[in-house]
This record gives sequence, C-alpha cells and structure tokens, in this order.
Amino acid sequence: MIAEVVSIGDELTTGQRLDTNSQWLATRLGELGTKVLYHTTVADELDANVRVFRQAVDRADVVVASGGLGPTADDLTREALAGVAGVELVLDQSSLDHIRALFARRARPMAPSNNVQAMFPKGSTPIPNPHGSAPGIAMAIPRAGRPDCRIYALPGVPAEMKEMWPWVEGHLREAGLTGQIIRHWRIKCFGTGESDLEAMLPDLIRRGRDPSVGITVSDATITLRITAAGSTPQECYARMAPTIDTIRQCLGTLVFGEEEDELEHAVARLLARRGARLAVAEWGTGGQIAHWFRDDPKCADFFAGGIVVSDAPSAASLLDLDADTLAAGAESAAFVRGIALGLKKSLDAEYALAVGRFPDVPHAGASVVVPEVPPKIHFAMAAKHDVIVRSARYGGHPALLKVRAAKQALDMLRLYLLSETTSPEGTQLA
Ligand code: AMP
Ligand code: MG
Repeated sequence: MIAEVVSIGDELTTGQRLDTNSQWLATRLGELGTKVLYHTTVADELDANVRVFRQAVDRADVVVASGGLGPTADDLTREALAGVAGVELVLDQSSLDHIRALFARRARPMAPSNNVQAMFPKGSTPIPNPHGSAPGIAMAIPRAGRPDCRIYALPGVPAEMKEMWPWVEGHLREAGLTGQIIRHWRIKCFGTGESDLEAMLPDLIRRGRDPSVGITVSDATITLRITAAGSTPQECYARMAPTIDTIRQCLGTLVFGEEEDELEHAVARLLARRGARLAVAEWGTGGQIAHWFRDDPKCADFFAGGIVVSDAPSAASLLDLDADTLAAGAESAAFVRGIALGLKKSLDAEYALAVGRFPDVPHAGASVVVPEVPPKIHFAMAAKHDVIVRSARYGGHPALLKVRAAKQALDMLRLYLLSETTSPEGTQLA
C-alpha cells in the first residue's frame, strides 16, 4: 500500500509558511502501516493541481491532501478533483445546511462564496468538519486493471485537519487500506562521527533490513532510529529488542539515552544517584549548559549554579584564582582548570565543569569565515579527587561550535561519572 501526501497552497510553495500538515499526516499514515513514498507541494493553480493529483493517482493507492478547500477564488481542490475524475460538481444539501448552521451559531452573515464549500465532485463523499466551514472530500478514482485510488482532501487549517483525521483513519481501516502498525524507537549517542558509528554497527543500517535502523545527526548528537512493524505495539517493540541489544553492545558508552533524552538528562541521572550537584563556568559556551540544566525540571535539582565568563580579570576576582592560574593566561588550559576548581569551591558543588574561551570568529562582510585551522578549545572537569583537562579542535561551521562544545563538556562529565560508578563490589550503579 503506497501513499502520497499532497499539500496545496501558494503560502507553502513560496516558503512563507512551513508545511507542517505533511509531517503530521505522514506520521499518522506511517503508524497505520501505510508506506508514504511521496510528498508533493503545489501552488494554488488549477492545472498544476490536476497534474499533481493525476500523478498521485497513478503512483499511489492512498492520497491524502490538505489545503485549497476554502471559499475563495484561490481554493481549487474541489475543481481539481472533479477534473481528475472527469465529473461535475454537485451540491450536497446536508453540507450546505451544516455551513449555514455554523454561520448562524456565530451570528455572522454567510457570504455567497461559502456556498461553494457545499459543492462536491459527483460520486464523492463529504468528510464532516465539525468546527469549520470546509468539509473534506473522499473519493475513489478508478484505475484500469488496478484497485481504485482513494483520495482524501482535508482543509489546510491544521486544527481542523487533525480533528477530521479519525474519519479518514476509520475509512482506511474499513477499506482494508492499512498495513501492520509501525513503531519507532530512538537511541541517542554522542562522542564520535556518523560514519565511524555506522562502521561499528556491521550491517545494521542496510536498506531492507527488518527491523530497519536509520541514522541522523543533529548538533553532534547521533540518533539511531529503529523501526519495526507488527500487529500490536508490543509486537513491534518485541521485534526491535534484539536490534536494540546489539546496538547497545556494539556502542557501549557512546549511547547516552533513548527517545527524548538529551545529554544533560543522562548527566542529571548520574548526579541524582550520588545526590551530587554540578556547577558550570562557561566562557565560550556563554551559559548554554546552565540554560539546559537550570530550565529543565529533570535537571534543575542537580544544578548548583554557575557563571558566564567574559574576561579573565572578572573571573579571577569572582573565583579567587591563584597567581599560577592567572600567569598561565586566559587562553590556556591551565586557566580553564583554575576556573573549574575555583567554581567548585565557591559553590560547594561536588562537580564543576569549565569551558574555555572560543577564538574570535572572523567575519568577511556579513558572512562568517570558517578558519582553516579549527579553533582549539579547553575543557576542565573538577571532581572530589580529580581534575581532568581536555582540549579539542572543532572543524565545521562556527555557528555549531557553542552547542557542540557544551555537549562535549557534559559528555566529559558523563564518562567520568560512568567510570566512577563501579562500586567496590564491582556492581554498575548506572
Ligand atoms: P486553506 O485550507 O488552503 O485555505 O488553508 C487554511 C490555513 O491553513 C492557511 O492559514 C494556511 O496557511 C494553513 N495551511 C494550509 N496548508 C498547510 C500546511 N500544509 N501546513 C501548515 N499550515 C497549512
Ligand atoms: Mg489555501
């Protein structure tokens, strides 16, 4: 069963509005086990709409469209569908009654143009729209030697479209147009590149594997998405379990969490087990780690506070830095080590992280110049008995630097806490 999602509107094709309906509809269709192979976006032009629907009828068994059902001259979906089916538009009295009642309830006069919303391609079925004036249209388009293609056209207003979806879903189920249900599970990783990680998972990312494993990267966090089909959600998850185990075994501590987890949540869980708190001194990351910790209820209890550093003298006066640290200079790893130790003491936290200064990003006019030699950044982590200092060079666009470095610092602490969690009896606590 192949599906196509069609979005209609000049505001979408011109880029003025983001097409969120396609994402939502494709997710719903996927959950029903209907494979969405195509997304098409088309402007408010009749010929183009007819062509898009003809193409969709040819290559998909189920077509779900949104937009173009309003009362104005640029709303052309009903005409396009009538054109594709080669039928005329006819009045549906009960839809007209519904639209009239809607205007009466709102105590607003009904414009003559709204009548057109009660016109349907002959042979189609109106899809009720309880809170809007644009009913949807369901129709079956015959195809030579193949089952009919089912088209469902819904209004573009996201709230109305979503409210009308259960009708479409029920229809798809009744018509036997759904497949097995599909579920996804995400595993989150940090600490290596996408291709290195793929190489550690022999053959898991192969196309056609079942359950399938996909890989995406966002701000240096790598997400593995496992997908399985089954007749119940439990069956889907049971089918994924061996793949999830294999991934965890292959990747070890590169895996920090799953589903909605971010690195700060992984760190907060490890701190929670110790009843410990984290303090942060951030120069280059400018408060990014503090923001993640302070503003997230899953992390806030484990945050001792912190400072955003903007120059060495003010950091020195706040943190009571010693002469050696100051002499090493603000650019040095020793300075970053010094502010981690100073902050841990000042805030009486069990752990402190410090991120050093980022080199200035050169600009050429309005655009950023990516430096040939990637900038070197220092990180320090102070714990009860240890201070660890690391330095890293980051290639890539400077705009990504802040979040990557903030994650790198958190990951440094995460790995330290993991290595610390082996109790004297040798049991892993986390
Ligand atoms: P329409 O049904 O074409 O009159 O669209 C009504 C409203 O829904 C407009 O404000 C559109 O911007 C919005 N809309 C239409 N299509 C989409 C879409 N694919 N994603 C998000 N919003 C949309
Ligand atoms: Mg429109």
